[in-house]
Amino acid sequence: MNILFIAAPAAGKGTQSKLVCDKYNLTHVSTGDLLREVVKKNDSFSNDIKKKMEEGSLISDDIILKLIKEKIQNQNGFVFDGFPRNLKQAEMFDELLNNINQNLDYIIYLDVDQDEAKRRILGRMVCPNCNSVYNIDYDKLDENNYCECGTVLAKRSDDTIETFQKRYEIYQRETVPVIDYYSNKANFYKVNSSVLPDMVFKQIQDIIGE
Ligand code: AMP
Repeated sequence: MNILFIAAPAAGKGTQSKLVCDKYNLTHVSTGDLLREVVKKNDSFSNDIKKKMEEGSLISDDIILKLIKEKIQNQNGFVFDGFPRNLKQAEMFDELLNNINQNLDYIIYLDVDQDEAKRRILGRMVCPNCNSVYNIDYDKLDENNYCECGTVLAKRSDDTIETFQKRYEIYQRETVPVIDYYSNKANFYKVNSSVLPDMVFKQIQDIIGE
């Protein structure tokens, strides 16, 4: 089974992807996480990517496709998160899935209110080790901000109000047309993601079933 989550920045894609992967035993493919792994290399190529991410710009389609291809090699059953971000990537993705004889079983649009997304960006903490996502507003964190895996949580360097504005503008210009593109398909579902994570997950489970 393959699932695609598509949404605005901070709509809860990462959180829901993790819940869905755990429950249905799928592999999480997050282009944001893959890029953050590249950035850790700290060479001139990765520093260029880091700069673009910190300003909220999109990374080139070819780099994204290469990262996805490497990640899904010889595996089955994915939750795709953060991709496609524009129509070009949607076309590339269709072609890639065709070539490997796979399809998307569920395309789930997490619909979140813009103010709620902004609030989540400001409260978001992430684990640099296992990529788990927490929020200071509704997750109980211990006073030292440790992740379940034992690593100290951090703020993402692109989780600022300024970068959020830019990411949101790019989302409206580049990604909303992708949502329109998928919305005609029979396996497209819209979920209210402005509510608490458990309630969002409940709606997703109702769609996918046991
Ligand atoms: P995310 O973790 O999905 O919020 O992505 C963080 C940042 O990574 C974005 O603001 C972009 O700079 C970059 N990024 C993630 N996915 C993509 C993608 N599919 N295409 C281009 N850039 C991306």
